[in-house]
Amino acid sequence: MTTGGQDFSGGAAFVGGAYVPASEARISVLDWGFTRSDVTYDVVHVRDGGFFRLADHLDRFERSLAAMRLAPPHDRAGIATIVARCVALSGLRDAYVAMICTRGRPRVFGSRRPADCDNAFVAYAIPWIDVIPPAVQERGAHLHIASIPRVGAASVDPTVKNYQWGDLTRGLLEAHDQGADTAVLLDAEGFVTEGPGFNVFTVRDGVVSTPDRGSLEGITRWSVLELCEEIGLPARIAPLRREDLLQADEMFCTTTAGGVMPVSRVGGHIMANDRPGPVSTRLKSLYWEKHAAGWHRTPVNYADADH
Ligand code: PLP
Repeated sequence: MTTGGQDFSGGAAFVGGAYVPASEARISVLDWGFTRSDVTYDVVHVRDGGFFRLADHLDRFERSLAAMRLAPPHDRAGIATIVARCVALSGLRDAYVAMICTRGRPRVFGSRRPADCDNAFVAYAIPWIDVIPPAVQERGAHLHIASIPRVGAASVDPTVKNYQWGDLTRGLLEAHDQGADTAVLLDAEGFVTEGPGFNVFTVRDGVVSTPDRGSLEGITRWSVLELCEEIGLPARIAPLRREDLLQADEMFCTTTAGGVMPVSRVGGHIMANDRPGPVSTRLKSLYWEKHAAGWHRTPVNYADADH
């Protein structure tokens, strides 16, 4: 939508205290968020004009900020207002909405002290993104089991949402070299963790399992665990190993940017006749049906863009 002579239809961003079209949003090359990946963020989606679990995303963002000792110049209510205005300005009914806090730049030139930096806040709403494209979700994604281990949780806490994607990107490159769609990473001890932008689940003998370590506490993962409880499907958070992937009846991935995304192959193991399995398909349908029925929904006030 066009507001104040600016075209926000490709997305709207809030940076340096002002709203700009997302394609024009810039941060300084001297910001430690860029030079050191000294940054945390969260992503919430908007579906059919409503945020999904906005309060839960804000809670997780606040936990990440505290863990990284970052303090943006806006409080929780201010952040909620900014992200809602980004969506309203864009006019997008389905959107990927990011809130980001970087360490910023030191007030004292040349300082190496994080405490000397003014932390910066950035947000944007852009058109919907599927981490795994819809056509691939339809046939079931093909996952490569990466040879690169996920970075140790003692070094980079995976429950704090971060841009330290070196291991995940190497896993993706390896997956694409081998003709797979994406990757799942094990930790250095061989336990299953997560993939580039998603949590993973297996289904075996009717039991749904998701790893107990090395991964973000995904809000979609949590939603799926709630759905399992609601429909009486046994579900557990448990240690999983490569063999559990290779013996799974079904597998699926979960993320804000795509929802429940079925997998048909992992590490060469073909599941459910090379198609999305029945449990994955049922959970995916239920997830979207409940969205349509207003589950954890905060409507966006699009009139907010008018003033
Ligand atoms: N794991 C990683 C590394 C992610 O980046 C994401 C989401 O972007 C997830 C898991 C899934 O988390 P959520 O369901 O909260 O989007």
